[in-house]
Amino acid sequence: MNRRPLIAKEAETSPRLAVMRPLGPRLEAIAPYLARIDASRWYSNFGPLVGEFEARLAARFADGAAVSTVANATLGLALALKVRADAPGLCLMPAWTFAATAHAALLAGLTPALCDVEPDQGILTPARAGALVRHGGMKFAAVVPVLAHGQPADLDAWAAFEREFEIPVVADAAAGFDTVGAAPVPLVVSLHATKALGVGEGGFFAAHDAALVARFRAATTFGFQGARESKFAAANAKISEYAAAVGLAALDGWPAARARFMGAAAHMRAALAPIPDVVLQAGWGETWIGATCLARLPRGAADRVERGLLAAGVETRRWWSRGLHREPAFRGAPRVETLTITQRLAASTLGLPFMQDLGAGEAARVASALRAALSA
Ligand SMILES: *Cc1c(COP(=O)(O)O)cnc(C)c1O
Repeated sequence: MNRRPLIAKEAETSPRLAVMRPLGPRLEAIAPYLARIDASRWYSNFGPLVGEFEARLAARFADGAAVSTVANATLGLALALKVRADAPGLCLMPAWTFAATAHAALLAGLTPALCDVEPDQGILTPARAGALVRHGGMKFAAVVPVLAHGQPADLDAWAAFEREFEIPVVADAAAGFDTVGAAPVPLVVSLHATKALGVGEGGFFAAHDAALVARFRAATTFGFQGARESKFAAANAKISEYAAAVGLAALDGWPAARARFMGAAAHMRAALAPIPDVVLQAGWGETWIGATCLARLPRGAADRVERGLLAAGVETRRWWSRGLHREPAFRGAPRVETLTITQRLAASTLGLPFMQDLGAGEAARVASALRAALSA
């Protein structure tokens, strides 16, 4: 028999722990909605299921915001920027975000302008953006703050920023399904399979201004607004009745799914609590939940921990790579600040395994591998 090194033997007995294992609604939950499509023979173009899905999404907003669904959050952000800032210019955004934020600005005909984030919160705040406008002498056509991995942000403060500087704001709340309950500024949520509530591919736009939501909706359907006439340059970015069927089933199951996410987060919190060098997002698994578990590690430790965990059969993910400025696609994007904090966060942030059915044993396995990797 072959003699193998111990580490391989260990990996053999405990299979690789995936960083994510999405869990959508089951067939039995979706089937009744699919049956309605059979009956109505209405497959797309704002059919009854999309209407019901949008009404139920809008009901989640306590402030009466209206909702329009969209094919995905990237196109949602692009079209939201297009209906809010339809002239070339700079679109201010944090360099510490997912690539989609910058792709959306480019698709909207804007130029991503990259700024840094606050050291403790890891986000672009209205105060920081305000300082750039006031003292940096910069002109921005739009600003896109990001709800980092679903973490709640002060959207009222962004509404105040918009009023003070008269610069349109569109919040990238792609991972914020659980956290956004009001839309003081227009925002876009993703319904991708890897987000808290997934339909495969999908998303929605939410805003107070009903005329703006109607214009956004038109932007997702060839610029048609009522009549079959293209009023302005637009896209086709609708979701089908099939996606809405999955979405309605996912909403039916959301209270249970959320409870499972919270239970799994409690396992992670408990397992990681004794490791002082590992900090999770504020309130994560306590007051809000997302589909990812983000760990802030000691300065520069992400590479070492990533390697150590992988050797122990534990997958991790750089969900935001190393910052927008390091992506070849955005190399030409102007930087309005030195990106010191972004660089530091990129070198110290790691996505750990997280899923609705993560058990206490798996959380303990992550914690012990993490402890070993940190002391290596
Ligand atoms: C997931 C995500 C997106 C993109 O959402 P899609 O629906 O996949 O297009 C954009 N921005 C952020 C911050 C995200 O996390």
